Amino acid sequence: MYRILIVEDEVKIAETVKQYLERDGHDVRHVTTAADALSCVTAETDLIILDLMLPDGQGEDVCERVVALYDTPVIMLTSKSSEQSRISGFARGADDYLTKPFSPRELAMRVKSVLKRARPKDNVIHLEDDIVLFLDRRAVTKKGTTVKLTPNEYAILLCLANNRQAAVGRDKLIEYINAHDAFDRTVDVHVRHLRQKIEDDPGNPRIIKTVHGFGYMLGVKRYA
Ligand code: CA
Repeated sequence: MYRILIVEDEVKIAETVKQYLERDGHDVRHVTTAADALSCVTAETDLIILDLMLPDGQGEDVCERVVALYDTPVIMLTSKSSEQSRISGFARGADDYLTKPFSPRELAMRVKSVLKRARPKDNVIHLEDDIVLFLDRRAVTKKGTTVKLTPNEYAILLCLANNRQAAVGRDKLIEYINAHDAFDRTVDVHVRHLRQKIEDDPGNPRIIKTVHGFGYMLGVKRYA
């Protein structure tokens, strides 16, 4: 899991990118201005996806600042496609450069490759109760034993883990598991099976809590 900041004033683009990156297990934040970008970046930020034409300034200036302060990897995302723009982007410290329109899948691959070079670390999420999600293999263990989850059960657990202790609506979970035509009940069925596999007492769940009339939330701590 990596902390990624998207700086993009086109909300629709940002939402799509966010969804792709969350699906890969990342903790993603989105801001729309250069000022917010500069106030949000910390030494903990693993990567920035940066639009160059922002309402209150130029992405290139943001890039230069964050690279100087934290050495944060930056992928520039822009409609400026000239060779000169690319060269100046790299000169200002970008690690990669993608021009709009772009494929979100390609961006997700580029994120992976930039992070691999810049931030090599274990691609895992640790939860309380000794539950570990291995993002590369899409596998889960509890107290060292593999828990066999279906892709949908895994997606639900990952989505809840990414939202830490915030409630996640059924609609978002449906979107997340890519079953746009599913009825709400489908999510409930997946959650029931998931609980049977990971809860000590599925009748009295601790790891996945129900938020009545809304959805679910992670009931245990996420460490990293
Ligand atoms: Ca823009």
